[in-house]
Amino acid sequence: MNKPHVLVLGGNFAGLSSAQEIRRYCGDAVKITVMDRKNYLLFIPNIPAEVFEGRDPAVTLTMPLHETLASDQIDFIQGQVEAIDVDSKRVDFVPTERPGAATTSLRYDYLVVALGNRLAFDKIEGFAEHGHTITDIYYGNELRHYLHNDYKGGPVVIGSALFHQGDGTQNIKLYGDHPFPRAEAACEGPPVEVMLSLATWMKKHGKGGPNKITVTTPAALIAEDAGEEVVNQLLTIASGMGFNYVNKTGDIKRVTADGVEFVNGQNVAAELKILFPNWAAHDFLKGLPISDSEGFIITDTLMRNPKYPEVFAAGDAAAITVPKLGAIGHQQCTIVGRQIAKDLGHMGAEEADQELEPVTYCIGDMGGGQAFYIRSNSWFGGDEQVLKMGHAQFLLKMQYKNLFFRNKGKMPDWGLKFSQLVGEKLFA
Ligand SMILES: Cc1cc2nc3c(=O)[nH]c(=O)nc-3n(C[C@H](O)[C@H](O)[C@H](O)COP(=O)(O)OP(=O)(O)OC[C@H]3O[C@@H](n4cnc5c(N)ncnc54)[C@H](O)[C@@H]3O)c2cc1C
Repeated sequence: MNKPHVLVLGGNFAGLSSAQEIRRYCGDAVKITVMDRKNYLLFIPNIPAEVFEGRDPAVTLTMPLHETLASDQIDFIQGQVEAIDVDSKRVDFVPTERPGAATTSLRYDYLVVALGNRLAFDKIEGFAEHGHTITDIYYGNELRHYLHNDYKGGPVVIGSALFHQGDGTQNIKLYGDHPFPRAEAACEGPPVEVMLSLATWMKKHGKGGPNKITVTTPAALIAEDAGEEVVNQLLTIASGMGFNYVNKTGDIKRVTADGVEFVNGQNVAAELKILFPNWAAHDFLKGLPISDSEGFIITDTLMRNPKYPEVFAAGDAAAITVPKLGAIGHQQCTIVGRQIAKDLGHMGAEEADQELEPVTYCIGDMGGGQAFYIRSNSWFGGDEQVLKMGHAQFLLKMQYKNLFFRNKGKMPDWGLKFSQLVGEKLFA
């Protein structure tokens, strides 16, 4: 009855994994509640692969949260978080199971904010009428239907809007003394993946190939978090295949029937425009004493808010998660579990206080049973940059998803080392 109450907001990758890691390290010393506005987890990174294979991601990529969490004695509430009051340790929410529910409050001893971001398509003029994307079930299926029914084989543009990184990381140093980097796009693995797998789809369906596709970035270098060497290798391969590349576009200004206009004045003509927006913080997080200038939750490298030490953040909602990558969020969830265990006297400081050292892991589908594999920490101050491509890397991507679903989101400790072995050594 008197167990500390840990409230985890968000039930996708970072929320589910934080709750599981807290249970793992704290045992039954805590009561855990997860809240999400929907009652399933969506395995977002595999949406492009499913869409280009003609499958509905709602059928193949969702996992029910209630029963998944119940197997670890974790409560689940399907509710929309409306407000957080960090001084009175209270969260206001509206249950979302049926319309008309009354706003309700819940108190916590520990709070983990794992609410992801709002993908701001609504800030791109003309997107609703002329744009496509692949970031969720609805948009993924729209693109799938468009490709099969309406696409005539004209030029394609794939690009990202400008990311507005807040000031929440300005004092953070990584890998010793490396200043925290600044990103101009929130997450550019998906555009690279979509460029490669769409070209395979186009060839297979007699609609042309890479030379019809232009990939754009607001930054000087696309997917710069993958490391300069890796990106330059990728760009050399892509230009050899015939892809067109435009950098330093600035933000997306407008989407029209004829193409995409960028803030730097450039227009790219296209029939199909696949766009990735700014990953913005949820409006109700802006202006809170735990948030940075853009509404991302401020933490140190142990995922703890410096002013409110009972508040943690993990995943895309955290200011320190740049770029917005599930793999970085995954590293953070273990830290959150260990920190709360330390507070409760279940783990010593030496074991618990292992700081975040972000690593970009990305396995992107290329279609035709091929994938690229990137493991890199050089952008953050480390010295590793690995790029591999092939069928083994594709199998790894698919097996990772299968294992995730089979183990209800719990990836075994050996999983990462095994992935590195398969992705980088065995079949490379
Ligand atoms: C196409 C695509 C491909 C990607 N590929 C990769 C990849 O290969 N590797 C990789 O590492 N990352 C990849 N990413 C990024 C990855 O998907 C995200 O980093 C990851 O989903 C972040 O997890 P999260 O739990 O922090 O946020 P999310 O997955 O966004 O989850 C947030 C959760 O919070 C809930 N929520 C939001 N607001 C509220 C509210 N007010 N009340 C209640 N609940 C709320 C949502 O319903 C959701 O379940 C990809 C992203 C995209 C779009």
